[in-house]
Amino acid sequence: MFEIKNLKVSIEDKEIIKGLSLTIKPGEVHAVMGPNGAGKSSLAEALMGHPSLKVSGSVLLDGIELVGIPPDQRAKAGLFLAFQNPEEVEGVKVSNFIRKVIAAKGKAEADLDKLVEAHKELVLAAEKLGMDKSFVSRELNVGFSGGEKKRLEILQMVALKPKVAVLDEVDSGLDVDGIKLISKAIGELNDGTRSFLIITHYPRILKHVKPNFVHILADGKIVLSGDETLAHEIEEHGYAKYLKGK
Ligand code: ADP
Ligand code: MG
Repeated sequence: MFEIKNLKVSIEDKEIIKGLSLTIKPGEVHAVMGPNGAGKSSLAEALMGHPSLKVSGSVLLDGIELVGIPPDQRAKAGLFLAFQNPEEVEGVKVSNFIRKVIAAKGKAEADLDKLVEAHKELVLAAEKLGMDKSFVSRELNVGFSGGEKKRLEILQMVALKPKVAVLDEVDSGLDVDGIKLISKAIGELNDGTRSFLIITHYPRILKHVKPNFVHILADGKIVLSGDETLAHEIEEHGYAKYLKGK
């Protein structure tokens, strides 16, 4: 169970998220939609524990309080964030990075069999995401196209099998085939024990990953929650009517 309670997030004394509450049960997919600048990425980064954000409120993952603990401990507790703008890291190979991340989570440890198995799984998952074999031996995000970066974020999610996955605009920069492939990967991971928070301003991905709930984020607050029909409604009419007074 993932519970966000009265979350407030500030950047340099500017309040971006102004008291947000949301509960995602295992097996549920929630979408948070909102226009540019609504605070979607700030929400995602606050959940993961970005050090430059000032945060109050509570974020519980299976009863463990995440607010106040560093990002690596949040990851250990089972939280995963796919970044909207993944960083390029020179000198670090994709395969080594993912292996280290898995090991840090205590899954593969020094057990060679487990490492070999994890590597096989990784190559298979990469193929399923439409990535070339050479991909896992390239440097992390260096020279990757927008679509390749998004696929790599999803590959990390598949490798880590988190309890809670927060996906910040994983659909942006992907072509239709890419969206279908990552949606399939999300669907396969959703075995009823995990929670998904899909952050997007564009309803397209929600045709492939059916959300149980859709929330509209505007000006730092959830202004409306509904089912997937809300996403269709946004596609038709945009966000204008949720931005009164702007
Ligand atoms: P979204 O992801 O919904 O497009 P963001 O969370 O990226 O929105 O941004 C929300 C608001 O916070 C915007 O007004 C943005 O300009 C502001 N913001 C984001 N990062 C910073 C920062 N480092 N310093 C100051 N303002 C920021
Ligand atoms: Mg954003």
